Amino acid sequence: MSVAAGRFVLIVFISIVLALLGAYLLGEWGAYLLGGLALALPLGYSYYNLHRLQVTAAATESEPLPAFGIWGEVFTQRQRMLTEMRDRIYAIEQQHDRFIQGFQASPNGVIMLDALNQVEWCNSSAERFFGLDFKKDAKQSIAHLVRHPEFVGYLNAADFENPIVIERLGVAANLSVVVQVFPFADDQSLLLAQDITELQRTEAMRRDFVANVSHEIRTPLTVLIGFLETMQSIELAPDQQQRYLDLMMTQSRRMKNLVEDLLTLAKLEANSKVAALTPFNVVAEMGALRSDAEALSKGKHHIEFSVDSTHLLMGEQRELQSAFSNLISNAIRYTPEGGAITVKWSVDASGHGEFAVTDTGPGIDSAHLARLTERFYRVDGSRSRDTGGTGLGLAIVKHIATRHHAQLQITSTLGKGSTFRLRFAPERLSLSSV
Ligand code: ADP
Repeated sequence: MSVAAGRFVLIVFISIVLALLGAYLLGEWGAYLLGGLALALPLGYSYYNLHRLQVTAAATESEPLPAFGIWGEVFTQRQRMLTEMRDRIYAIEQQHDRFIQGFQASPNGVIMLDALNQVEWCNSSAERFFGLDFKKDAKQSIAHLVRHPEFVGYLNAADFENPIVIERLGVAANLSVVVQVFPFADDQSLLLAQDITELQRTEAMRRDFVANVSHEIRTPLTVLIGFLETMQSIELAPDQQQRYLDLMMTQSRRMKNLVEDLLTLAKLEANSKVAALTPFNVVAEMGALRSDAEALSKGKHHIEFSVDSTHLLMGEQRELQSAFSNLISNAIRYTPEGGAITVKWSVDASGHGEFAVTDTGPGIDSAHLARLTERFYRVDGSRSRDTGGTGLGLAIVKHIATRHHAQLQITSTLGKGSTFRLRFAPERLSLSSV
């Protein structure tokens, strides 16, 4: 027998006992009165509690209702169910929020589409890629919002086996995005989009680089082969033969320089670490730099070296030597005969070290300055090649500067000359060798 049925039997039993007691004490009316009261009180109490239950039925938040007996249990049970339900809803909401936060944190675009390809939800990356505003665009057809012919074609074809690349997206129409739709559940789908703009840019740079290297190597090779064919096919006078051999030597050196610079650049690019803090004595190095500069100039320039500081530079000796001699060799190669070149090592009041090379050469138009450190960028291609330039020198200097927390600063006036400065942060300077 259930508890409720047991209690019902108990109430009936008590009513009968009270009715008999009433009859015994007060006669017939006493039996009606006590028996009726014994039935009416629990009935009234039940009605009262039913009313309380009805009033609070819709409320998910409520105080536990105090009651006796079976009603007390009903209300306690109800309260427990409400609390459990609230906890479960809270946990689901938390999980939902975490999913949303996860999708929002993704750099990839995520769009949920319904059966009619209408936007159910999208993250902020998707808003940025496709120019959407979820608050306004919810429940709108994605094909109407993104009026990109290839995108619309992909959706209409409904063949989502492979992704599709869509270019010229975004507010500035400068984004390339790879898009794929993944159907799920019965008729919903998830559209994922990944920004590949940077990837395409580096891929294009890699292609340009390979094309440039091939071009740079092919030119001297073609010249070399031409001379060799000539020497094979005709008998040359000794002086002519010597002239051809000299020209072949020049082209061979050019190729060697190019390969060496390429290897240096590859090594620098492969090494993403900052340069070690090994003491490098710039003052002592100045002597060797001066001898190299004079050998390259062959007395055609007025060259001056000055040292304003005995600070040591903390870094990779070979790299620093290479950066300094690149700047000096550029100054000599681009400055016409009779020009002046000044090389100076100093430390300023803010504690920054500065290696500066100033020349009275042709100067550089400001339009070129920002691109000078790009690989193979030349202002004057023939002057660069004629003087043995590879077009990689400043790219190498820039890499070395970055690895040493230094900045390469270039100031130049057309027709007057240029100054190339390597400015080192105070942490890279030291007054003692230990
Ligand atoms: P390159 O081997 O051609 O000299 P760099 O990377 O060293 O390559 O220099 C890039 C370009 O910057 C040069 O081709 C040249 O046009 C210009 N340049 C570099 N240094 C100077 C300078 N001191 N005076 C004028 N132009 C310069």
